[in-house]
Amino acid sequence: MQDTQILYQNSLAFAKACDAQDPLRSFREKFHFPKDADGNNYIYLCGNSLGLQPKNVQEFIQKELDHWAKIGVEGHFKADIPWTEYHRALSKNMADIVGAKPDEVIIMNTLTTNLHLMMVSFYRPTPKRNKIVIESDAFPSDIYAVKSQIKHHGYDPEESLILWQPREGEYLNHYEDLEAIMEQHGDEVALVMLGNTNYYTGQKYPMKKITDLGHKHGAMVGFDLAHGVGNIDADLHETGPDFAVWCTYKYLNSGPGSLGGCFVHERHAENKEIQRFTGWWGHKLETRFNMRLDFDPAYGADGWQLSNPPILSMAAVRASLEVFAEAGFKNIRKKSKKLTGFLEFLINEINDDRINIITPKNPEERGCQLSIQVKDADKSMFDGFMEAGIICDWREPDVIRVAPAPIYNNFEDVYEMTVRLRELLNN
Ligand SMILES: *Cc1c(COP(=O)(O)O)cnc(C)c1O
Repeated sequence: MQDTQILYQNSLAFAKACDAQDPLRSFREKFHFPKDADGNNYIYLCGNSLGLQPKNVQEFIQKELDHWAKIGVEGHFKADIPWTEYHRALSKNMADIVGAKPDEVIIMNTLTTNLHLMMVSFYRPTPKRNKIVIESDAFPSDIYAVKSQIKHHGYDPEESLILWQPREGEYLNHYEDLEAIMEQHGDEVALVMLGNTNYYTGQKYPMKKITDLGHKHGAMVGFDLAHGVGNIDADLHETGPDFAVWCTYKYLNSGPGSLGGCFVHERHAENKEIQRFTGWWGHKLETRFNMRLDFDPAYGADGWQLSNPPILSMAAVRASLEVFAEAGFKNIRKKSKKLTGFLEFLINEINDDRINIITPKNPEERGCQLSIQVKDADKSMFDGFMEAGIICDWREPDVIRVAPAPIYNNFEDVYEMTVRLRELLNN
């Protein structure tokens, strides 16, 4: 059955029936929900900003604390999972979520740091080809990063940054407009770098088409999957971008400020000529501890590591990835389409001219987030949500982002949220 053909009903009974049939319903119990002063769970719809804490995180971190306490430095080689190889224990589960091969992914650093490291390797401007294409409403950190890279190479962002923007009076980007940019400037573009999905509108861009388009014109292609990882099917290996970066604290629930992830396509796995910033942890494991050799990069994404990783944070990521692996990403995505479809249906049922969903209607062109524009609203609307027991998020000037995370949200959450939205609009 096509997701678009689901017949929804506007009732609590329907929401409860969907929950009863949901194969992932038990996963909710694996997370800590924030509670109000009376001990009631908040309705948490903010996984796009910070995912909830999986209950197994504590045990995974405790285990490494115990190793450290009991065997100290020996933990590097004698912990249950030796710390020198700890990152490898995350690769398979991480790769499954983004549709990559384990050697193509690495958990390291943080998102913006990884974006810079990837641009060191994949943004190699020349006088003839020095432009970067991004979406006009890219996340600020991404804009700062690309502009500083352009300047670092001695070029001017005014000339070397091309914005893919929505048409007059619209919010979403058209692929055809990106195509037109590439037709016009293709031989000057060094890198196409897009956030996917867009953090503000929730629009998911067609990754395969964009990757093929960039490559056809001789550019490198990278994606920032901060809002995509754990949310959309990225299928990175088949899609074929040169790199991708993401954080793990949003939909992947690994904790505030936690580590980032990075994908480098297999085609670059053995290329030792690629410029990169290097550190000892990117050196081949077999000879890393000989210490006096010239840098010899490890195969694949591992070769971009700089430092020995923070094991306590890695343990939190590992815990969270295990929850995802148990649920299976395909199942998560399937539920997500139905859950967000229900949210969309209920908002449309409110039938109020002041509200407008700017996220694409087609489930294939979005993840779980809906961005709801509320005419003449200000931040007091958001405060009203908090008072009504709902945690979602507010983006200036007038957008509420609501992200039902399929791993821990249910149909009843979505139903309750829209009941309270209706009340807020009536007041
Ligand atoms: C959340 C987010 C960031 C945040 O970057 P950090 O380096 O993790 O602080 C950057 N870019 C995008 C697109 C994001 O959604």
